[in-house]
Amino acid sequence: MTSKPVIGVLALQGCVTPHKPHIEAAGGVFRPVKRAADFDGIDGLILPGGESTTMLKLIDRFELADCLKKAFERMPVWGICAGAILMGESVANPIQRSYGVIPVTLIRNGYGRQMDSTHFDIDGYTVSFIRAPIMAPVNDDVEILAKRGESPVWVLYNDKMATSFHPELTQDYPSPMHERFMSLITKH
Ligand code: GLN
Repeated sequence: MTSKPVIGVLALQGCVTPHKPHIEAAGGVFRPVKRAADFDGIDGLILPGGESTTMLKLIDRFELADCLKKAFERMPVWGICAGAILMGESVANPIQRSYGVIPVTLIRNGYGRQMDSTHFDIDGYTVSFIRAPIMAPVNDDVEILAKRGESPVWVLYNDKMATSFHPELTQDYPSPMHERFMSLITKH
């Protein structure tokens, strides 16, 4: 890769622009992705935090399911909170469809509701849990990069990454998670 990698952030709903300074500090170019044409030329994709049910509806409404499936086949993808829920193998509380690209089960709002949202320290970096899902790996091929208590909160499966938490709200650029994601893209 000769030029800077372009990181798309699905921009239908949720927490999109706070990724920009992290992506730039990690050496990438930030691109909000709203339409099929925006997928052209991206090297990696972030599915941001937000509301997974709403995102599923908007993916259908804007006819982006095929673009997403191609992205899952072709490039590193990182799902954050609601984005992780979209990437899981199965979803509970309540049951919801998902794209099944990481063999984990996600329990929506497993860390509690808005009132229970909290900051948490991962290897010296503060991250935010906002109505976050609990992740349970379905098999041993899922690499666990960080835990909160007994539960994995940052996982890697080949070039697919998921975090239950939001690192992008912390204004210390780039987050270790953005750096890790960028390293998946540069070695892709
Ligand atoms: N609870 C939300 C959902 O189920 C996710 C919250 C978030 O992305 N911060 O989609």
